[in-house]
Amino acid sequence: MEAEQDQALKERAQRVIPNGMWGHMDAARIPVAYPQYFARARGCRLWDVDGREYIDFLCAYGPMVLGYGDPDVELAAERQRREGDIFNGPTVRLVELAEAVVGTIAHADWAMFQKNGTDAMTTCVSIAREATGRRKILVANGAYHGAVPWCNPYPAGSTPEDRAHLVRYDYNDAASLAAAAETCRGDLAAILVSGFKHDVGKHHELPMADFAGAARQLCDEAGAALIVDDVRAGFRLHMGGSWETVGIRPDLSAFSKAIANGYPLACVTGSERFRAAAARVFVTGSFWYGAVAMAAALATLDKLGGIGGIAIMERMGQRLRDGIAAQAAGRGIRLRQSGPPQMPVILFEDDDDRRKGWTFCAEALKRGTYLHAAHTMFLSAAHTEADIDRALEATDAALGVVAERFGWQ
Ligand code: PMP
Repeated sequence: MEAEQDQALKERAQRVIPNGMWGHMDAARIPVAYPQYFARARGCRLWDVDGREYIDFLCAYGPMVLGYGDPDVELAAERQRREGDIFNGPTVRLVELAEAVVGTIAHADWAMFQKNGTDAMTTCVSIAREATGRRKILVANGAYHGAVPWCNPYPAGSTPEDRAHLVRYDYNDAASLAAAAETCRGDLAAILVSGFKHDVGKHHELPMADFAGAARQLCDEAGAALIVDDVRAGFRLHMGGSWETVGIRPDLSAFSKAIANGYPLACVTGSERFRAAAARVFVTGSFWYGAVAMAAALATLDKLGGIGGIAIMERMGQRLRDGIAAQAAGRGIRLRQSGPPQMPVILFEDDDDRRKGWTFCAEALKRGTYLHAAHTMFLSAAHTEADIDRALEATDAALGVVAERFGWQ
């Protein structure tokens, strides 16, 4: 089927939107074969504007943790919508959600809510600086924390001064972290770490215990804040926060994406020590107190915990991983699947230009399976064994094309 509607929308967009699209959905970032525009979704199925159906392994870049249109989340959101969303002040949902988050996130003594992951990360950094009276923030090379000047990985539109107090280290490398901390002596406000290493286009790595322990110790010795950016990994690795998997508790964490199953919400959690500083920083937004997203978050957290959503995603992700591994091995194709099974990335060997990766994805797409060749992918609790098996038929054929085109055998 031709992508007629998609093409027409892209052309209209070119006239009224700079470059036709911005940010991570910029058409230049996805291959030509990929649709830009979507019409609807349900569970783990997604339909583009031209009516083509996909089994989705991107989950809207993470938020859809229970699946699109989850009935329990939608009911909670709809009930709240009937009462209203934003008013001159918050609703009871705010206090209920803060209580639920404090009861779920292991290190949390308090919570504050925003809209996007960038809001939450920026708030964490402000609180750390206010609490310590210091400036320097350690950030891992290649890590993404948002798209405002202090952390935007792309220089356009910002100044070197915006990032003057960021100091780089390598994730999972305790020695590089210690060396970076050493350069900040007396001025270290925070160490920023992602829930796990999930840089785009790179093999993913879970945090190593020695690295996590070193980060905690360096912060304790320096009186700095350990901040876990759990925007991407939150509620997919561990309900209590991703670093529970290595037994290390941060001082501040940022969540977003999966917290409200697609409704716009972000959250900062903190320990007692940072409560006073959190109260002093002025952070806000017109829509940060919206009750509909909070009602959705309450339903999402309740259901995810209740059904053991993380275990479901892990099992489905492992089924996909095992299937693809067997298919690749059978054809002598060298690829590496990394990250936790519920948040995989699949990278082909000798594929610097990513032609193999995108060929694989484009061929799977033709067969109704939506994958990504560089970004973290996401399972949801709505994926079933039947969905995975159907997706594996697509990946098998796609790997066949890769083998043919790139001469593996
Ligand atoms: N941190 C991480 C780890 C992320 O993956 C993202 C979003 N991809 C952000 C922060 C920023 O979140 P948002 O796009 O919602 O502002």
